[in-house]
Amino acid sequence: MSEHAAPSAPPAPLERAPEGTPLYVHLPFCAAKCHYCDFFSVPDEGQDIDGMVAAILREAAERAPRSPRTVFIGGGTPSLLSAEQLRVVLDGLDELTGWRASAVEVTAECNPESLDRAKAAALKALGVPRLSIGFQSLDDATLELFGRVHSAEDSFRAFDAARSAGIEHLNVDMIYAVPDQTAESWERDLGRVLALGPDHLSAYNLTFEEDTRFKRWLDRGRLERSPEEVELAMFETTRRLTAERGLDAYEISNHARAGEECAHNIGYWRNGAYVGIGPGAVSKVGHSRAGNPRGIAPYLRRVADQGHATHWREDPDPAARLAETWWLGLRLAAGVDPDAARRTAGADDESAAAALALAEELAGHDLLERRRDGAFGLTDRGLPLADAVAKRFLERLG
Ligand code: SF4
Repeated sequence: MSEHAAPSAPPAPLERAPEGTPLYVHLPFCAAKCHYCDFFSVPDEGQDIDGMVAAILREAAERAPRSPRTVFIGGGTPSLLSAEQLRVVLDGLDELTGWRASAVEVTAECNPESLDRAKAAALKALGVPRLSIGFQSLDDATLELFGRVHSAEDSFRAFDAARSAGIEHLNVDMIYAVPDQTAESWERDLGRVLALGPDHLSAYNLTFEEDTRFKRWLDRGRLERSPEEVELAMFETTRRLTAERGLDAYEISNHARAGEECAHNIGYWRNGAYVGIGPGAVSKVGHSRAGNPRGIAPYLRRVADQGHATHWREDPDPAARLAETWWLGLRLAAGVDPDAARRTAGADDESAAAALALAEELAGHDLLERRRDGAFGLTDRGLPLADAVAKRFLERLG
């Protein structure tokens, strides 16, 4: 989500989300800041984690939906919290929302340096059956370049710890197209990850985001982007190896065994509603979006003063909403159903017709195809160009 200018007077929070709306909780502390990362997070050293937990529960009391259908505890590095701190967060949220009785999927993000068997068992006992572990690379030199504080061996240990603690739903996060990485080394590393038998694999190509150390290094020539053809070869290798292991590419960068797709993230790609709690968290309720400040002190101050921390708010027009629904939805293998997209966006006749005309135009160029169920999805030709194809909707309608 892009940064938004702070308005002169903070806006009112979004209206309370309806029962069942997915819930995201942002725990913003990490062992160290990774050099490529533009999520809002800060090193935990010297931070008042208990104070943050209390503020998050206070904000949740004001804004969290009742009976969320999915819950995602992200960050940051939630596994960095002690088992007791995690208990306070998860019990507190349950008292406020009743998530333990309602959620069909509950995920916590973890990093190898803070995930051992006891932590995984604690999370499971607290009602979190799905963990997402950030391996990112199996090359220790790359992990060091990334600014990660764990080794590849730590990642394998964390995965085993989670499985031996009885965690049944495990995702592994990996990054490819790293400077100097070869297609062969990616294939080898991905093969080793898949041999572990994860239920879900997220594999993102490295991007150089603004305000990251990696972007500065790129601008100064200290790092170079992976050549396009190497990146494409890695993308194709990822699809082939995951398919061989029975993990379907249900989204451009996400692969899962049948039934293990991440329902929470599918909600984002379907442009559905969600409530985000915590510093930097974003929410979408109805057709409005709003976010909290990306800073510990301003977040704590606002929650203490007003119970919520809403810092910006936007209300896109129907055409922009429809463009966004197509842009996000085309990432999914299931594609975009024009009528469903129109309903989600609450779009008018004119924008719906413009979106359909563009989809047909792109189908004429063999970038999209219309499926038997009426949805438009990327063709094999369109797949590697997914970002550019999806952006056409933002350009034409947004
Ligand atoms: S651990 Fe994750 S959230 Fe934290 S800095 Fe690294 S990539 Fe960002």
